[in-house]
Amino acid sequence: MTKSIDSLAWQEGFLNLGSAFFTPLKPTPLPDCLGGVVSQSVAKSIGLSSGWELDQHNLEVLTGNAHLENRPAYATVYSGHQFGVWAGQLGDGRAIHLGTVQNGDESYEIQLKGAGKTPYSRMGDGRAVLRSSIREFLCSEAMAGLSIPTTRALALTHSSAPVVREKVETAAVVTRVAPSFIRFGHFEHFASNQQYEDLKSLADFVIENHYSHLQDSEEPYLALLEEVIAKNAALVAKWQAVGFCHGVLNTDNMSILGLTLDYGPFSFIDATDLKYICNHSDSAGRYSYLNQPNVFHWNLVRLAEALLPLIAPGQDEALIDAKVEQLKELLFQFPHQYEHFYQEEMRLKLGLTQSENALVEELVLLLDHNRVDYTFFFRSLCDVVDTASIAAISVIKDLFLDQLGVDLWLQKYLAMIPSEKAKVIAAQMRRHNPKYILRQYLAQKAIENAENGDFGLVHQLHECLQKPYDEQLEFSEFAKLPPEWASQISVSCSS
Ligand code: AMP
Ligand code: MG
Repeated sequence: MTKSIDSLAWQEGFLNLGSAFFTPLKPTPLPDCLGGVVSQSVAKSIGLSSGWELDQHNLEVLTGNAHLENRPAYATVYSGHQFGVWAGQLGDGRAIHLGTVQNGDESYEIQLKGAGKTPYSRMGDGRAVLRSSIREFLCSEAMAGLSIPTTRALALTHSSAPVVREKVETAAVVTRVAPSFIRFGHFEHFASNQQYEDLKSLADFVIENHYSHLQDSEEPYLALLEEVIAKNAALVAKWQAVGFCHGVLNTDNMSILGLTLDYGPFSFIDATDLKYICNHSDSAGRYSYLNQPNVFHWNLVRLAEALLPLIAPGQDEALIDAKVEQLKELLFQFPHQYEHFYQEEMRLKLGLTQSENALVEELVLLLDHNRVDYTFFFRSLCDVVDTASIAAISVIKDLFLDQLGVDLWLQKYLAMIPSEKAKVIAAQMRRHNPKYILRQYLAQKAIENAENGDFGLVHQLHECLQKPYDEQLEFSEFAKLPPEWASQISVSCSS
């Protein structure tokens, strides 16, 4: 018999924190559930066995149309800085948590995004449209395929219910799964309201459940911050190396576990443009590709401020000053840590035995000046290393206007690759340079087809992007350079 979602090993989890942290409520049903796209690897991780998605009740639960027996669903409260400005209380305006599931040693929070209004919806309708839900479903699974820390997507279910954005669209629900959806904004919320007991409960909860090795630390909250800094430095280094832009790096979209969180107007870079802004509404470029590491740093300072009342409790000004100095020192480490992680990612992409910062910088500037397709370049470079053939070199050179520049760079680079090891190095490089990414135009085509009832391309992209480093010749169309019209696609925050 198919396992029902109800029979998973549900735990109290976040509910243990108490009523200051969430509001119990039920998802608002949609008029119908037209079907779903599911991720079996996520299903397996939470303890669902194959065929689970054939059970209509399971899909209804994930659409918010059926409820889990005796399990209160809930929405959590958080605050945050948006575009550099304190925005006050935000909270789960359209994400409703079903709860926490234990499977073996791991536990996972399960959340329905787009399942109806909550007390934190403000002016919003609590819904998500099919368009943005397909993007979130595909990109979270693509990031997992790239081994980039991320929240996952168990399912996308959709409905005929109309949702009004710039035009009338239809509703969908993405079932998101993560060890925790706790954001920097959760800490900012309780710190800004001076609810220091609650702030402490939250930090203790995070440490106990997700950083348990810090429990015996002399200064657990300082140690927590130190680890969150390191995890986020590693995360943004991976984004930069793969060419991913998030688009809305507000503090409420920053994960305390260093996961990629809240997929909105994100984009992978096609033609390299360091100043690339993927969010149509971000006219000043606060969240441009190049600025992402700086913004992570800024956001981490906000987290440090929120944790200060725990790190330096009480009114002793000398103690507070001393702790602030310590925090500053920790935060000063961020750019160095980021640089270290980034250079390591680039070393692996280039198949080198040691970091070559100047070589990387020169390459990135060349790619930028020549607007070279970022992903296509690196994957093609693997072929150059592999074969050293004129054909492979000309594929690369054809991408550049500055022929002399690319020649000089290639000479320098290839001199660092020992020819007797080239084949082995090329094979390793292919594990760090994806052939397939979720290009904007591919997502766009998949959305257009799905809006006309054909989910074939969504399924194909989902399958392909789970193994982005493999050749998968059946999907080679998806690895081609994007068409001209792709550069015109503009994605807004509307979702
Ligand atoms: P985002 O920029 O998508 O991360 O959202 C920022 C805040 O707005 C969060 O508190 C969201 O829950 C809320 N929000 C976004 N869209 C909606 C919506 N359609 N209905 C209710 N709340 C929303
Ligand atoms: Mg958000």
